Amino acid sequence: MNDLRELYQEVIMDHSRRPRNHGTIEHANRTAHGDNPLCGDKVTVYLDLKGGLVKDIGFDGRGCAISMASASLMTEAVKGRTVEEASRIFEQFHDLVTGEGEVDEEALDKLVVLAGVRDYPVRVKCATLPWHTLTAAINQKEEVISTE
Ligand code: ZN
Repeated sequence: MNDLRELYQEVIMDHSRRPRNHGTIEHANRTAHGDNPLCGDKVTVYLDLKGGLVKDIGFDGRGCAISMASASLMTEAVKGRTVEEASRIFEQFHDLVTGEGEVDEEALDKLVVLAGVRDYPVRVKCATLPWHTLTAAINQKEEVISTE
């Protein structure tokens, strides 16, 4: 179990130091900002949403290692997925970090590295902030981006 914890810790540190899909994306049609004042985490999610599919996703932000790693892992988990798939993954992820409900580790894939968060209730908000921000971006009305 200790080896597993160490491995999980390494993945978290790797993603927080070298976040994947970092920065804005081309053709973003949704953007949302998330704020976790408890810890000082700030996340902006950029989405290219087409026909119910997450074609591309990027994020910007600053905050603790948990929030940044969670955002990075989230972008990898939902890129290329449908909105329904993404929200199902979020439900599973929420259960994982709160320790509630039955967790499907296979569906969560790499996101299981954040399982340890459930022992630190104050960190749950750090881990779920990117996901709440993603949900806000998905639920936005399509923004018409004009170059005029
Ligand atoms: Zn945090």
